[in-house]
Amino acid sequence: MTTSSSFSRRNFLAGLGASALALPATGFANSFDNDQYLAQLAAQKRELFGQDRKLGIALVGLGSYATNQLAPGLQQTQYCRLAGIVTGTPAKAEQWMQKYNIPKQNVYDYKTFDRIADNRDIDVVYVVLPNSMHAEYVIRAAQAGKHVICEKPLAIMPKECQDMIDACKKANRQLAVGYRLHYEPFTREVMRLGQEKVFGKVKFVEASDGFRIGDPTQWRLKKAMAGGGPLMDVGIYAIQGARYVTGLEPVSVTAQFGPKTDLQKFKEVEETLFWQFQFPGGVVSNSTTSYAAGVERLYASCENGWFELSPAFGYGPLKGRTSKGPIEQPIVHHQANHMDNICKVLLNNETLPDHITGQEGLRDVRLMQAIYQAAETGRRIDLKA
Ligand code: NAD
Repeated sequence: MTTSSSFSRRNFLAGLGASALALPATGFANSFDNDQYLAQLAAQKRELFGQDRKLGIALVGLGSYATNQLAPGLQQTQYCRLAGIVTGTPAKAEQWMQKYNIPKQNVYDYKTFDRIADNRDIDVVYVVLPNSMHAEYVIRAAQAGKHVICEKPLAIMPKECQDMIDACKKANRQLAVGYRLHYEPFTREVMRLGQEKVFGKVKFVEASDGFRIGDPTQWRLKKAMAGGGPLMDVGIYAIQGARYVTGLEPVSVTAQFGPKTDLQKFKEVEETLFWQFQFPGGVVSNSTTSYAAGVERLYASCENGWFELSPAFGYGPLKGRTSKGPIEQPIVHHQANHMDNICKVLLNNETLPDHITGQEGLRDVRLMQAIYQAAETGRRIDLKA
């Protein structure tokens, strides 16, 4: 397990703060001008690189997230562009080539994927497949000599995460995780409020994320593909929230499964799960994740006040307030912002900050497995550093 220093305020905020894509400071959401912001980014990029080169990204898996969030986001990015696709469905390939002007030589299927090694148009492979497929495609992308962004959860088991990290290291490529909120201004503000103890020390966090799931046949309900139920899908945001608001790593966890109200739908995975983290210094967090009902909240009670985001984890706009009044921040496109912040670092041949790397993805996968172990055994599980 990690120690608190691996998720320290210094590391986390320093990584964010080092960004040349510096977002406006707090408190002027009303005056925020998105066009001006994008123009400022373009100017910063020209200043940094003296040209308009963008990294070419290939999306692997053209499902809902790639189609509805990442591809539209890539129409707004300054440091990267949609250059290629990997899909098993020829009809989708045709549609995407036309819609996004993607040349045929940048289109792959799952069998021809490894040939991407020879394609100089593609710098970064973004893996947006079901969870159980992340490890294989990240490792193949690294072996093809590409940097990789991988969606959350990084993988299902810690061993796979480690293999992915090792493969990227061996290929001298960088591995980023799809934690889009790490560059989202409301989220950054609650990180600051908690980690800088603006309302005193955080004493207690409530972090929950859930929604009512539809289609009973989808891979999210199949244990082999998803690795678990809502914990693997959206509960991971609640884990992140408790960690980034406190800036601490949990030392132990207790957990309980909720009832299954639809035995057919939830034959393989949990329907609802509750857990409690204990952090150093007596700080505690309490979380719920569920596929039965909606919840999306991050609340921190501090020595001298409180702050919260609700909604806290979706595509936004997020909304927040504190015991002193509303939180005002600019509204950005989460995915464009996330990819730009990563690609700016890669373009500049710098090392990604720890909080957005495979190591960070691995920390959460370890925690999720510990939560399952706690719920299954009914015991408090100690988390070793
Ligand atoms: P989806 O089901 O909509 O898309 C999955 C894609 O994988 C489809 O194009 C499908 O054709 C393809 N695929 C290839 N082989 C497959 C197989 N054997 N079985 C099923 N599908 C196969 O899923 P999604 O919602 O796009 O999620 C993809 C990944 O993105 C997941 O890891 C998910 O956790 C992550 N995600 C992240 C966010 C975020 O906000 N960061 C949001 C949604 C999803």
